[in-house]
Amino acid sequence: MKINIIEKKDNKVRMSVEGVSTAFMNSFRRAVMTAIPVLAVDYIKVTENNSALFDELIAQRLGHIPLSSDVAFKMRSECDCKGEGCSNCQAVFTLEAKGPCMVYSGDLRCPEGVKPVHQNMPIVKLLEGHHVKLEAFARLGVGKEHSKWQSGIASYQNYPSVKVNKRKIDNAEEIVDICPTKVFEMGKEAPLVKNEEKCTLCNHCVEVAEPGAITIKGIDDSFIVMVESYTIPVEQIVDRACEIIKGWSSEVASFEKD
Ligand code: SF4
Ligand SMILES: [Zn+2]
Repeated sequence: MKINIIEKKDNKVRMSVEGVSTAFMNSFRRAVMTAIPVLAVDYIKVTENNSALFDELIAQRLGHIPLSSDVAFKMRSECDCKGEGCSNCQAVFTLEAKGPCMVYSGDLRCPEGVKPVHQNMPIVKLLEGHHVKLEAFARLGVGKEHSKWQSGIASYQNYPSVKVNKRKIDNAEEIVDICPTKVFEMGKEAPLVKNEEKCTLCNHCVEVAEPGAITIKGIDDSFIVMVESYTIPVEQIVDRACEIIKGWSSEVASFEKD
């Protein structure tokens, strides 16, 4: 397997991956979206809430706030506390606010090393006389249990191969203009392939060209992969997804032996 980073920006990466099957890429996508443990608020204890929102709605909003953590928590099921909840398997936030005001994710009082990724996510609007006081317990979980634990998103397509047969081109400008991702630039007589890796395999150029003038193909064992992380650094997501696939493969291998 050969990986090459095409573009990396903040929490997003676009890369080419060579020498793998479609089944591997699909497992990678599933690992990113369903199997990497991340922190999310899973339980709240409300002491005071006379706002317009029910406790359950506030819990739901808190659950969907992405959290970043410098602390390595354990899954509750694997913790020595046997799921009771302790400082090794949960982070406890507190929130107290009195209206009139809008309460944001940045108003949560955070435990050491854990904080919301975005400070400006609205939680509840309080009017004059409204008062909210609660504790929120964040725990590790995975996306297949609930979307609030989805670590990020991943998608892929086959690596594109774009070939131009100059002798059959009679509408070069139209071909250059119709490409939505600007794969071509205008050459002397025919379009030149400038950004092959940007081709989305949409076939618009093939539809306007003479038959056989442009050939678009997806390469079977090479892919362009996009990964976006919501909480942990995107490099960690890629590493952990590969480790998870290794674990899945050895499980399948031992199952076959049995
Ligand atoms: S298939 Fe679509 S994206 Fe690819 S070169 Fe043709 S028009 Fe551009
Ligand atoms: Zn514990």
